[in-house]
Amino acid sequence: MRAFVQVDLAAIAENIAAIAKRTDSTILAVVKADAYGHGLVPVAITAVESGASWLGTALLEEAITLREAGIEVPVIAWLTPPGEDFERALKLNIDLSVSSISLFKEILEVGKHLGIKPRLHFEVDTGMRRGGVLDEWSEFLAFAQAEKANYSLIGFWSHFARADEPLRSFNQVQEDEFSSKLAELTATGLTPEIIHLSNSAATLSRPSAHHSMVRLGIAMYGLSPDVDQMGGAEKFNLRPAMTIRAKIHLIKAAKAGDAVGYGGTETLKRDTKLGVIVMGYSDGLPRTANNSAGVFFDGRLAPLVGRISMDQCVVDLGADSRAEAGDYVTVMGGDGYSIDEWAKAAGTINYEIVTRIAARVPRIY
Ligand SMILES: *Cc1c(COP(=O)(O)O)cnc(C)c1O
Repeated sequence: MRAFVQVDLAAIAENIAAIAKRTDSTILAVVKADAYGHGLVPVAITAVESGASWLGTALLEEAITLREAGIEVPVIAWLTPPGEDFERALKLNIDLSVSSISLFKEILEVGKHLGIKPRLHFEVDTGMRRGGVLDEWSEFLAFAQAEKANYSLIGFWSHFARADEPLRSFNQVQEDEFSSKLAELTATGLTPEIIHLSNSAATLSRPSAHHSMVRLGIAMYGLSPDVDQMGGAEKFNLRPAMTIRAKIHLIKAAKAGDAVGYGGTETLKRDTKLGVIVMGYSDGLPRTANNSAGVFFDGRLAPLVGRISMDQCVVDLGADSRAEAGDYVTVMGGDGYSIDEWAKAAGTINYEIVTRIAARVPRIY
């Protein structure tokens, strides 16, 4: 294997256990985007075996894949535009979220046609101005009440915009808005079974927002929602689950003054051995990390030299390196630069680093 993602499922299980110690709420494991790049089905199975009793995806097709894998716990897909295969969703007992009367109607029509009551979660916009009912709220409530015989009201939920900044007063604004919308809902006689608001950041920092269920994403994978604002994952007893390794394709001696790679952007300052690594930006390495990241061999840093190419990159192994072609280097995680360090080098967040690793890089468990 020229490169692979090694996923430590025990770390995921331990991370869920560590979170379970911080909350009495039910845990929903967020497995969207191929379980943040860690592999949808293996992670979902591990999560369910380790204390998560719900699963959450963004897309309907992700939820369908879980059902096709034989997973029977409640699953919610919360990002379904009009025109999705709701028939399939209802037949597979997948919970759906509604943020508009028009989508609500569309799903009810499908339910009536099939003779199945859709299991619905109402999403309200409490301040993020992304998903959730906002301007339609009063009509939405009236519609929900008029149609109450035609669906099961499972959940009531919203999403924080700034939970990774625990000191922001805006979090309290959103919590208050959530409570008041919930009170308006229950005043109409509609009572959701499950109330959910918190993502990882709020699960780690705002017990007041836990309600009956928390939606756990990044923390389950052993990463901090925001290293600068909240501290690193180790502060919360979380351990990253992802390590990436790749093979050295070729090793060669090069001279001081040689320019390396496309554009000749970097010139060697000394004679050294270069290693060509079989992993590039099409595999998900961020090309913008060019000058500040590197790989590790034998516990020693081999910095990237020149630009990352599509399928490969070049590193400076050092003149005395004992590496040979065919040896593996650690690209990220494990004894290499951490996912957080790569994120910093690329000017992005750890979420993007793990989710951008391409499907062509095999996941090993
Ligand atoms: C992705 C997502 C989460 C999980 O967020 P983390 O910050 O990774 O914990 C929770 N809820 C919703 C609606 C999401 O889209």
